[in-house]
Amino acid sequence: MKIQEADAKSLLLAQGLPVPPWKVARTPAEVEAAARTFLDAGAGRVVIKAQVLVGGRGKAGGVKLAGSAVEAAEVGAQILGMDIKGITVRKVLVGAAAEIVKEYYLGAIIDRGSRRITLMASAEGGVEIEEVARQDPAAIHRVSADPLLGLLGFQARTLGLAIGLRDPLLNPFVAIALGLYATMKANDADLVEVNPLAIVAERALDGTATQSLVCLDAKITLDDSGLARHKGLEALRDLDEEDPTDAEARKLGINFIHLDGTIGCMVNGAGLAMTTMDLVKHYGGEPANFLDIGGGARHETVAGSMKLILEDPKVQAILVNIFGGITRGDEVAAGLIEARGQQTREVPMVVRIVGTNAAEAARLLAAAKFETATSLDEAAEKAVALSKGAAR
Ligand code: GDP
Ligand code: MN
Repeated sequence: MKIQEADAKSLLLAQGLPVPPWKVARTPAEVEAAARTFLDAGAGRVVIKAQVLVGGRGKAGGVKLAGSAVEAAEVGAQILGMDIKGITVRKVLVGAAAEIVKEYYLGAIIDRGSRRITLMASAEGGVEIEEVARQDPAAIHRVSADPLLGLLGFQARTLGLAIGLRDPLLNPFVAIALGLYATMKANDADLVEVNPLAIVAERALDGTATQSLVCLDAKITLDDSGLARHKGLEALRDLDEEDPTDAEARKLGINFIHLDGTIGCMVNGAGLAMTTMDLVKHYGGEPANFLDIGGGARHETVAGSMKLILEDPKVQAILVNIFGGITRGDEVAAGLIEARGQQTREVPMVVRIVGTNAAEAARLLAAAKFETATSLDEAAEKAVALSKGAAR
């Protein structure tokens, strides 16, 4: 689950990280009021940032500075309602604009290769970090935390030195790196990214400047499977931006993942679903989705799943593969018949149901004139042929 910058910053603050204050605004008037607070408190300018769950807001024109409250309202009016990569901006973050001296990149991820939390840092932070990663991978430095010992101080210091930080900013960097690691652990996050982690100059009244490191941006992705362990985090889900398919799948209690192929798959059990996809590929087809309807799925779950599969316009054929254990074959067959009655488009389908109540399922499906198969090989082969428009 991705969360908005403002919420990600709250999670960083909770771990004691240096994050400049902000307010969230939903209308130009709210932007103006928020801007006035920061300007009255001594800010020279304010920054207004689109809150959308995609990267590259800066390049898309979703991050702008303003020098007065009135200008902030104008900028707010421009950004609110703006379309960024297909998402409409509904809220913005407003804060005192930082005077940036240099931008670094710092991110923590779960590195599946090493099976560890890995911290990545670069002196080339900012909006071009993806380009840097592509063109000059050596500019990204990494350290991996030990699963038992955690991220150790010397590792964070090594990382800071590698990106060129020295006293007096090295120790603050170490604290921030350890804080990112702590944020990963405390929230079961998959990703915690601060880009830019910036050296900013703060000016005293006499004009002298002091430099400090602050988290100017924050991006956090939470592990969906970990959400149950952190009740408060569910509230951070931004329903404005959730993919309708994901929302529906969550309601149905199924695991549904869109893929690029043309064969819709409905299977019970994650392992069987993967095997089914393998066989589809083996026979020369491409699965349109991964779908595990779970154990003991009722007919309404089956019908709802079918609706999700058919909503994908790429789907040319459907393969249903059920190994009935707790799931009853006749219940699935009833769901398929129910779904056919509600279907808005005709797509060829092949159904294989074995196990619990398979005979009853076969009777129901035969009466409703469904195309069936007995083995998974046969079912996959047929589905691939159907997806390519072959005659039945
Ligand atoms: P992103 O493009 O979605 O990653 O959004 P960021 O929050 O990272 O902002 C993009 C860029 O805008 C940053 O890399 C900075 O260069 C600039 N920026 C963001 N906040 C400030 C600020 O407070 N002051 C100044 N001067 N620039 C900022
Ligand atoms: Mn950024």
